[in-house]
Amino acid sequence: MNMAPNLPEPAYKRIVIAGGGFAGLRLARSLRNTAYQVVLLDKNNYHQFQPLLYQVATAGLEPSAIAFPFRKIFHHLKNIHFRYCEVMGINPAGKEVLTSIGNIPYDLLVLAMGVDTNYYGNENLLRHVLPMKSVSEALTLRNRLLQNYEQALISTSEDERESLMNIVVAGGGPTGVEISGTLAEMRKTVFPKDFPELSFNKMRIILLEGGPRLLNGMSERSGFKALQSLQKMGVEIRTNTLVHDFDGTRVTSADGQSFRTTTVIWAAGVTGKACPGLPAEVWTRQNRIRTDAYLRVTGLNDVFALGDIAAVGQHQAFAGHPQLAQPAIQQAALLASNLKRELKGRPWKAFRYRDPGSLATIGRHKAVAEFRLFRFNGPPAWLLWLFIHLMAIVGVKNRLFIFLNWLWAYVTYDQSLRLILKNKE
Ligand SMILES: Cc1cc2nc3c(=O)[nH]c(=O)nc-3n(C[C@H](O)[C@H](O)[C@H](O)COP(=O)(O)OP(=O)(O)OC[C@H]3O[C@@H](n4cnc5c(N)ncnc54)[C@H](O)[C@@H]3O)c2cc1C
Repeated sequence: MNMAPNLPEPAYKRIVIAGGGFAGLRLARSLRNTAYQVVLLDKNNYHQFQPLLYQVATAGLEPSAIAFPFRKIFHHLKNIHFRYCEVMGINPAGKEVLTSIGNIPYDLLVLAMGVDTNYYGNENLLRHVLPMKSVSEALTLRNRLLQNYEQALISTSEDERESLMNIVVAGGGPTGVEISGTLAEMRKTVFPKDFPELSFNKMRIILLEGGPRLLNGMSERSGFKALQSLQKMGVEIRTNTLVHDFDGTRVTSADGQSFRTTTVIWAAGVTGKACPGLPAEVWTRQNRIRTDAYLRVTGLNDVFALGDIAAVGQHQAFAGHPQLAQPAIQQAALLASNLKRELKGRPWKAFRYRDPGSLATIGRHKAVAEFRLFRFNGPPAWLLWLFIHLMAIVGVKNRLFIFLNWLWAYVTYDQSLRLILKNKE
């Protein structure tokens, strides 16, 4: 097929945004109805709300509840163009983005491609573990979990049944804690009803964390609360335990422990995406792109970086802001406001991160919340978590749908979405 991006000539400047995640989408929407031509590129035709991926993976929500087609978001916005393509690199000298549908010239370029799962260079992990960075990965995980129990039911070997039923979660950050808690609840309330012939007393959920405690980004007290709650729910937690290898049936840790399972959920780290064409010196040791306080990539006047992929700040020692939604959203809001200021001939403002606090949920009525002046946990933190996540979802229909889903699950202790959806062979 003959392909070209087929974009109209911009009347003023063209801003190309690579990646429509929290940062890219916020920037594009904030520049609607301005003199700029905005071209958003994404390898998916939808924006995904990553904080609720674990609920898709555990059959609590359907993917459509947390994914929103870009084209629908941009209805009636004449200065915004979307192209469904993969960004493969950039040519800063020629001011072009290299993509799977051809080269796209830009006046200003914004890199907001987020990060990838980090397998720390281990081929076995790459091949066998189940990551959870996208809707399709969450669905693969959901299929695997459900298929495992179907297989366990017909297995003639006790060892194999044990492997199929046990789950190891690698990484004790918010995602690892959230999914371990949900699985522990499902082991108690959902799986025994679906598979009454299997004995779920024997199913182990093991959470492995390389560092000394859970929820490393939060206070020690919150980490301890999460540990206590998960232990009460029957999750086995091993801190200071780095995953060393996984051959598809057995996980081994760096200190020689070994766990029998076919399912390792990988929530153990992320790394920046390669972007050929960027000068080598802009990359930090953590594979993030160094920018100045105006989000401009070091040494490149017309290229910006936002969100997880960016390390904003002039100091070489600063590794970057936390890889969370808030820094991405705040950076996008600032860049949009600066670009609008430029239209009015006003000077730009520098980025300053306002930390709104952190939250992590563990299970029904269990969560931890931390703000500058106070911390709390239990049902109030859990309700706050539900409210904030509901409000952050794009689209009234999705918000309502998720709310009804949560309400139904709360009342019935059940979710009714446990479908195994197979790809066509
Ligand atoms: C499972 C999980 C749970 C999380 N929970 C929370 C939470 O509770 N609270 C919180 O604050 N943060 C949470 N985060 C982190 C948060 O989602 C990220 O910090 C945030 O998404 C970063 O925004 P971003 O715009 O930089 O990148 P992303 O939101 O990751 O967006 C990147 C976009 O770029 C696109 N893209 C990538 N590569 C290419 C390419 N080569 N070509 C074209 N398009 C490309 C992707 O499709 C995607 O749309 C969670 C993350 C995960 C994975």
